[in-house]
Amino acid sequence: MKKDWIGIAITSVLGLFLTAAERKIEAEGPDIRVSLFDLVKPRDVFVTARLGTAALLLDDKERICRQLHIRLEKNGQLAVWVDGQDIGTCRNIHLSPSREYGVSTIGVPGVRPRDYGGTFEISSGTDVLRIINILPLEPYLAGVIGPEIGSNPQALRAQAVVSRTFACANRNRHDPAGYDFCDTTHCQLYQGLPDGTTGKEVMGAIADTQGMVLTYQEHLCQVFYHSTCGGHTNSSEAVWPGLAAPYLVSVDDRPHCRNSPHFRWRYRISQRKLSSVLAGLAAIGELLTLVPEKVGQGGWVQEVVLSDSAGRKKFLTGEEFRIGIDRVLGWNAIKSACFSVLREGNDWVFEGRGLGHGVGLCQWGAAALAEKGLNYTEILAHYFPGTQVASPILKEP
Ligand SMILES: [Zn+2]
Ligand SMILES: [Zn+2]
Repeated sequence: MKKDWIGIAITSVLGLFLTAAERKIEAEGPDIRVSLFDLVKPRDVFVTARLGTAALLLDDKERICRQLHIRLEKNGQLAVWVDGQDIGTCRNIHLSPSREYGVSTIGVPGVRPRDYGGTFEISSGTDVLRIINILPLEPYLAGVIGPEIGSNPQALRAQAVVSRTFACANRNRHDPAGYDFCDTTHCQLYQGLPDGTTGKEVMGAIADTQGMVLTYQEHLCQVFYHSTCGGHTNSSEAVWPGLAAPYLVSVDDRPHCRNSPHFRWRYRISQRKLSSVLAGLAAIGELLTLVPEKVGQGGWVQEVVLSDSAGRKKFLTGEEFRIGIDRVLGWNAIKSACFSVLREGNDWVFEGRGLGHGVGLCQWGAAALAEKGLNYTEILAHYFPGTQVASPILKEP
């Protein structure tokens, strides 16, 4: 039995957070499509109505249910259970709330269940369930403003403007795959609706900056943010050669992010382990020397020169080096490309500052600046010199 379209209506709670003005923005652009659980690559997904029951539309017949379980079968079909009852297989599933703003709890094996607003398309990807969450821009932003920025309203507003600007400037980023953004830090880390008090503060910051984006000479900016710069932010060109902008330059952020646990870090690794990782990363043999050759403002390494015992030399950008090592050893190994390195016996010792690529807004620094009394436009002017906060999206009727 084939069932190609299933709709679920779920009791609304997100509607409580949305203002009339936000709904106005939503009407102005198409919804955002976000691919969920991109790193997990699930084969099972469990959907639960957050409050009470949900209505299930199956071949135009409405049913009431509380839970839905979908499993990707080996033949690419989706097996579906509604409230524990096997109802057969289908190829595409569309989950849509009966009210305008429904909330669904989505669970996949190995991840704590999370609440999401909007609607969903679930289909079979390449050996993985593809779960696309479709929702308006402003509720999407609520899911990308994480705890690192703190809870000061001015810092949250700065983050809201930056996240909105990123979303507006990078839509269709994953267009060939059929969605706008993934839910990892490749785009913006998106974990569904924020909860409790944090959720109210985040939604407040989004509403207070409704439609506002960062512009430079009346053009939408390309923006970036990171956890901790360690004293100086990095220039975009040092990280992504060819991507330069007058507002993506290194700025002196001392001493704002010094309370971050990542402000200073140290990482020790054996010669054997590092050699083996670099053999895979740069195709070299036994590591002989490792020299940060070009170092930019604040100690951000732009180029690393490696040599091996056979006399071969390889060049990597600082960011290629960091990402390459961390992909193998974990994201807290080399926390940033702002480091110096020493050989100590059979070990290499890295001493560094900051976490992330270091470009644009420093979240720990922004939180401290807000505590000092700066407002969000002043915070943004500090990290993105020469830019302005403008409101080109929302036009009053
Ligand atoms: Zn992405
Ligand atoms: Zn900083």
